[in-house]
Amino acid sequence: MKQLQDAILKYGNAVNEHVLKVDAFLNHQIDPTLMNEMAIDIIEHFKHKEIDKVVTIESSGIAPALMVAYQLNVPLVFFKKSTSSILNGECYQSHVHSFTKNIDYILTASHDYIHADEKILFVDDFLANGEAALGAADIIKQANASMVGIAIIIEKSFQPGRERLVTEGYDVYSLARIKKMAAKHIEFIND
Ligand code: 5GP
Repeated sequence: MKQLQDAILKYGNAVNEHVLKVDAFLNHQIDPTLMNEMAIDIIEHFKHKEIDKVVTIESSGIAPALMVAYQLNVPLVFFKKSTSSILNGECYQSHVHSFTKNIDYILTASHDYIHADEKILFVDDFLANGEAALGAADIIKQANASMVGIAIIIEKSFQPGRERLVTEGYDVYSLARIKKMAAKHIEFIND
């Protein structure tokens, strides 16, 4: 998606060859117009699929995922990164290794908000090793729901996330695919 690539080139800061900061429009300050355009693009890709619910992971996935859910007129559920006292009752849980923080966390979702047979679109800000998406997929399986697609805002294609998810049979759609990056240099895959 051209607008997103332009924003990444203008504001993106490759901290090193593996981590990109996009605080100016996604991870700290949020550009609502860009979120809206991205949601239109994601919905166009998945227009042939039935979607009952959008799922993301707190916190950086929430802004783009909310726009998608709003336009589809379905609920958004964000999975939490730790057991929270706000979550009463039974929860689904899955262990995830965080790429950026290099720590493990427990992804948690209440039984109240994911139900059997629901068709779920997962939306997240970045795809690196695929751990977050696979953890979300695990919870969705535990609930006997199905993940009908995975929409990613920025995929770092030099990392194995996409391959792992595609091998598992998921339909992965990324709005920007980064082939490689270094300080002041970001190269995209355009297909
Ligand atoms: P994965 O689980 O695919 O290894 O990593 C994806 C998650 O880690 C995303 O939800 C995102 O929050 C975070 N992440 C991975 N790589 C980056 C990156 O380069 N920049 C930022 N800002 N977050 C990242």
